[in-house]
Amino acid sequence: MAMQQEWAGKDYYGDLGVSSSASAADIKKAYRKLARENHPDSHPGDKAAEEKFKRVAEAYDVLGDEARRKEYDQFKSMMGAGRFGGGGTGFPGGFRTTQTDFSDYSGFSDIFGNAGAGQAGDGGIGDLFGGLFNRGGGAGRNARPSRGADVETEITLDFREAAKGTTFPVELTGDAPCTTCHGSGSKDGKTHRCSHCSGSGYIRENNGAFGMARPCPECQGTGEIIEDPCPTCRGTGTVRRARTITVRIPAGVVDGQKVRLAGQGEAGPNGTPAGDLFVSVHVRDDKVFTRSGDDLEVTVPVSFGELALGGTVTVPTLEKRVRVKIPAGTPNGRTLRVKGRGVPKKSGKAGDLLVTVEVKVPDDLDAAATSALRAYHQAERDSGFDPRAGWAGAQ
Ligand SMILES: [Zn+2]
Ligand SMILES: [Zn+2]
Repeated sequence: MAMQQEWAGKDYYGDLGVSSSASAADIKKAYRKLARENHPDSHPGDKAAEEKFKRVAEAYDVLGDEARRKEYDQFKSMMGAGRFGGGGTGFPGGFRTTQTDFSDYSGFSDIFGNAGAGQAGDGGIGDLFGGLFNRGGGAGRNARPSRGADVETEITLDFREAAKGTTFPVELTGDAPCTTCHGSGSKDGKTHRCSHCSGSGYIRENNGAFGMARPCPECQGTGEIIEDPCPTCRGTGTVRRARTITVRIPAGVVDGQKVRLAGQGEAGPNGTPAGDLFVSVHVRDDKVFTRSGDDLEVTVPVSFGELALGGTVTVPTLEKRVRVKIPAGTPNGRTLRVKGRGVPKKSGKAGDLLVTVEVKVPDDLDAAATSALRAYHQAERDSGFDPRAGWAGAQ
């Protein structure tokens, strides 16, 4: 079975720090302690805690269920030693990855953004978290959402800001953590264990061969019931208010791109994770530059003399201006490539600057230029140069 193959690399007892002969009560106790200690909500941005939290939750999903624990034990004894090195960190989940995921925004919901593929619907922990943290929070008919709503906003950036990356203040009105109770929803911080789900935060339902878990509707998946609700937010942990957040737009965004900022959406009820903020970026055209991926394109007007004789032109980039050498005999319209002067990339390198030369023909020559050009024209003919030599339209 697929699930059992995954078990080969796991050490669920080790993850919970209990012996394989631990009682169901000890397993639950260990799980609750570790889950609380490593909850991503109290360790924003801490990847190690997130990782641990995931492992603990996954371990308890199996060991906390008598039948599944038995299956797991049997599987392990069948495999021999039971402890296999290098437990995988694959996290089966029903969460959808959306949009461009900028990994430098390491908010909480990123842990669902890299969900392992192909595990959805196996009735395991994927269903639990898929339900708990579903986009928009539709976690079952009676349960309130256990994750803040996603928020969408739009910004318009100048071409150069978009290319170089920028920070941008965005004002949002929506659910934000209640300052009175710091988002907990509790007046005095006192809670008691939810009796409906025995504090696990979810209800397991058996549908034939597959166990399905969904968040507990009594405690909204928190496992705890607030004794004295906070008067400011009436126990929800959130209040609606306007807030300004600074959105960091990474270098190289293009017009129409959506940037996801994990955990910057509306606050979730009772201190549950915030939703995500999606920023649709519009980019204004620039008078000088266009882009082709990470390459920055610029067209430079040049004279015939500069192309024929060769020369040097000064060209703007996103940073300081650079000097570009034009080799003698460069044809009009040729594109010269200047390495590493284009749009910054995530890797820290940059694309190239593509300089296209375009001859500008003078429309008003003075006497000296006219006579010099006439003389040149004659010399050109005398040398045998024919601009239409080899041209298919010549016949
Ligand atoms: Zn409050
Ligand atoms: Zn409950």
